[in-house]
Amino acid sequence: MSIRIVLAVVFLSGFLYGRIDVPKLLSDYQNLDQKVRELGERKRFLMLVNRQHAIPEDFIPNLTPTAQRPEIRLDIAACAALERMMEAAEEDGHTIIIASGYRDRSYQEDLLQEDIASAIGRGMSCEEAYRYVVRETMPPGCSEHETGLAADLVSPSNQVLDERQADTPENRWLLEHCAEYGFILRYPEDREEITGVSYEPWHFRYVGTWAAAEIMEEGLTLEEYVYDIIRSDAP
Ligand SMILES: [Zn+2]
Repeated sequence: MSIRIVLAVVFLSGFLYGRIDVPKLLSDYQNLDQKVRELGERKRFLMLVNRQHAIPEDFIPNLTPTAQRPEIRLDIAACAALERMMEAAEEDGHTIIIASGYRDRSYQEDLLQEDIASAIGRGMSCEEAYRYVVRETMPPGCSEHETGLAADLVSPSNQVLDERQADTPENRWLLEHCAEYGFILRYPEDREEITGVSYEPWHFRYVGTWAAAEIMEEGLTLEEYVYDIIRSDAP
């Protein structure tokens, strides 16, 4: 059996396993994935994407190149908001660098396969490698970057995606002002149990200004915000 087939089998079993693991707080909720999907169709900026809720196969992002790095594209509304935010940061003396924006599904697949292959190279079994890698790298269809609504933003003094971003003045500025432009810090510290992703101070997600203000002021995650809307919409 080729390594690709082994990886595909491991990936699929892991993906199915992951989908069963719906957050405990919603274990009583029926048709959750469908409700999340309907909300995302009604309000594109509130599209919730994580290991439990993959992006619909037929989703077509509405993309435009960013001015700073035209090879990086973002959703049109998110891009306009990001550019306004970057201008405001610049006026306050901070240059924000866009490290990553839209990524398509095959890119995400390659990323995952590369990471799995490298973990196997370090001596893990296929299954161990898969479980280890998906803690950090989202399975294809489950990465927010596939929506075009997420951007990885870094400081000129540290262009690596690591926790030291949080110590840079640019990141502190972003935390203070991102909601004014409709962005949230998507994977806050100590919320891994809810988001399924460890702390990522560089990853910002566009949700629109109303939702962003509420989420950032109340210290929520997008999961909590979206599930709350679904709960209150329930008859
Ligand atoms: Zn990211």
